[in-house]
Amino acid sequence: MSHIVFDKGCLCQSIYNYPTSMKFFSTPDLIEIGGIPFPCRDEKPVRWEALEYFRRVAESQRLNVRLYEEVRAIDGEEGGFTVQTAKGPYKASRVIVATGFFEKPRSLNVPGEELPKVTHYYKEPHPYVFQKILVVGSGNSAAQVALECWRHSAEVTVAIRGDGYKPGVKYWIKPDIENRVKSGEIAGYFNTTVVEIKPESVVLRRAGDETIEIDNDFVLAMTGYEPDFRFLHEIGVEIGDDPMQVPAHDPVTYETNRKGIFIAGVVCGGMETNRWFIENSRCHADVIFDAFTLL
Ligand SMILES: Cc1cc2nc3c(=O)[nH]c(=O)nc-3n(C[C@H](O)[C@H](O)[C@H](O)COP(=O)(O)OP(=O)(O)OC[C@H]3O[C@@H](n4cnc5c(N)ncnc54)[C@H](O)[C@@H]3O)c2cc1C
Repeated sequence: MSHIVFDKGCLCQSIYNYPTSMKFFSTPDLIEIGGIPFPCRDEKPVRWEALEYFRRVAESQRLNVRLYEEVRAIDGEEGGFTVQTAKGPYKASRVIVATGFFEKPRSLNVPGEELPKVTHYYKEPHPYVFQKILVVGSGNSAAQVALECWRHSAEVTVAIRGDGYKPGVKYWIKPDIENRVKSGEIAGYFNTTVVEIKPESVVLRRAGDETIEIDNDFVLAMTGYEPDFRFLHEIGVEIGDDPMQVPAHDPVTYETNRKGIFIAGVVCGGMETNRWFIENSRCHADVIFDAFTLL
């Protein structure tokens, strides 16, 4: 089947953005694609092994990949779409949108969030050695970042809106972070929100409306990400008015309300960003290609 794959970033931009030393929670057999084996050194792959694997797959299967080429609009109808990218128009009879959500961090919406000391993407602990850091969020990433930085000589404070880490935090990470907070090695503020970020401090609001200001060098806002709803809206895909804002699609074929446009991967879950991951969304490709052959 003739095809073009566009990405506005590099190949596997999201995996490229993972923390540098990140290890997958999946074993390689569960994230390999196209029936091509994914050999890796240990039981679970690390980031560079996955980048290398997917690069080899793209190369050996001669995928027609156009990188650093953002898709901006999709005009026309099924059988005769015009896909407008940053570099020009392309013809397509059908389009699959797999835009993920890792490109759009969920903002804290507080003054000071634009300061250079604030980041939504964590790479490695070294820049935070001997620094006072605040980690915001209660999911896996927030817990892992807090632990890794604490183990690399950072003075770590965590701020969590609810009264604890999410139940979905991996079973080997949750007790680790909870025990570090309990012992006071990591300062934990629960039922707490960030109110303002200043160049040398942060202001937190605790339960009961008490406000405190603590010294701070860096803020790591691990508050999650969200799909690019504006892009979906612009290409005519309706967004559900439920809290999860699931893009309208047939749950069997993954075709959206706009005939000939399909969605695949994590974008299918809307704001439920932990609904789909590589393991359980690899099958979207087969389902969509089955639908193509039936059409
Ligand atoms: C730290 C971390 C660890 C993880 N570990 C695992 C694991 O062990 N096992 C597992 O199964 N899953 C894991 N995941 C989840 C996994 O990374 C995602 O499920 C997967 O990347 C989703 O694939 P996707 O193709 O739907 O979206 P993405 O991988 O996010 O790809 C979307 C792509 O679309 C591009 N794009 C967006 N808009 C446009 C546009 N307008 N034009 C052109 N290109 C565009 C982006 O640049 C991006 O490259 C992990 C995620 C993280 C963050």
